[in-house]
Amino acid sequence: MAYALINAFLIDGTGNSEPNKTILINENRIEDVYSGQQVPDGYQTIDLEGRALLPGLIDAHIHIGHSRSEPDRMRYDRFTEPKVSLLAARQVWESLWGGVTTLRDMGARHGQSITIRDAVNAGTIPGSRVVAANESITFTGGHASYQVDGPWAMRAAVRHQVRAGADVIKIGQSNDANYPGFNPVELEAVIDEAHRLGRRVAVHVDKEPALGMSVRAGVDTVEHGFYPYPETLELMLEKGTYWVPTITINRGMRHDEHTPERYEQNLTEVFKTNGIGDHQARRRAAEMREAFEAFPKCFAQAVEMGIKIITGPDGPRADRVPMDCARNEVVKFVDWGMSPEQAIVSATSLAAEALGLDHELGVIRKGYLADLIVLDGDPLEDIETIDSIRLVMKDGCIYRNELQGATEEGF
Ligand SMILES: [Zn+2]
Repeated sequence: MAYALINAFLIDGTGNSEPNKTILINENRIEDVYSGQQVPDGYQTIDLEGRALLPGLIDAHIHIGHSRSEPDRMRYDRFTEPKVSLLAARQVWESLWGGVTTLRDMGARHGQSITIRDAVNAGTIPGSRVVAANESITFTGGHASYQVDGPWAMRAAVRHQVRAGADVIKIGQSNDANYPGFNPVELEAVIDEAHRLGRRVAVHVDKEPALGMSVRAGVDTVEHGFYPYPETLELMLEKGTYWVPTITINRGMRHDEHTPERYEQNLTEVFKTNGIGDHQARRRAAEMREAFEAFPKCFAQAVEMGIKIITGPDGPRADRVPMDCARNEVVKFVDWGMSPEQAIVSATSLAAEALGLDHELGVIRKGYLADLIVLDGDPLEDIETIDSIRLVMKDGCIYRNELQGATEEGF
């Protein structure tokens, strides 16, 4: 199918915007982008009437197949494989409907993320494009079920994930506490092995000193990392490490801000439910509260310094965070100190760069994959209008169209 989207207010994903643009789409690619409204023959014209058009959003940290609610969020045994598959299929559709054209799954069991990725790519089910970590690798007692220790076991674990089809390697370096699980030798082994096999490394790390240790070792993306020391931020800047701060999972949805007291209380209960003794659960939760309180300041400082910050809300949670929560993360970024332009870059071109897909995703540019969304409002004026989605296109196919006079198209 060939489309001409005319009269677009183009927000191209690199920080630039311009009114009255035409975007030609041919098959799955952007064929041309130009000013004015001339359309060659053979294109179905869609008049956007000055609406904002931007690249499809990228959610760099999500867990498809999860339907976790407190207090049993760690009880993976309650979710059977068929149940999770059906749920995951629905979730990637919800994600796409919500404007997320690409998501990076940061850890799933039973090969779910690989299965779903391949099903989406084959056209079996409609959904966001999936970049899959497959299973998260952690140490004995760490924050995932796939647990290994020692440098050679780490290398074998990476090879195992790559053989299973992982696009990226995810490791869990701390377990809701500040103690580093892997030592520097293990970290170095996993990073070296992954990079040699052409995979990037994402590290789950809550705070220091595990955070600084991970950055020094050379991980590509830091997941969470709520409370970085100033010297760690300096090092991230120097090394070009991406930060996925997952504000949404820490702070909740837009109008549901957690208080530090409630956060500490909830976390204490979660720790206790997971078998941690009362005293230690309280102590760990108190430490996490300190990080919780410092988080907005650290974020603002990182923005100021020019650290590469990426959207990845770490949803979904059955009871409070929906699958398409990437837009919430964008709004939070603006609340905490980014300009709307910066926040959109974080969710598009910069996120594509973090995933190694910046050669064809994250920007509205000739030759790139035709992933885009159209909004009713201007997100540069009011970032909350990012919720006013009227059209979603992925790979040149329209999956959602709520423009006036729209003809039903799609999968
Ligand atoms: Zn996560």
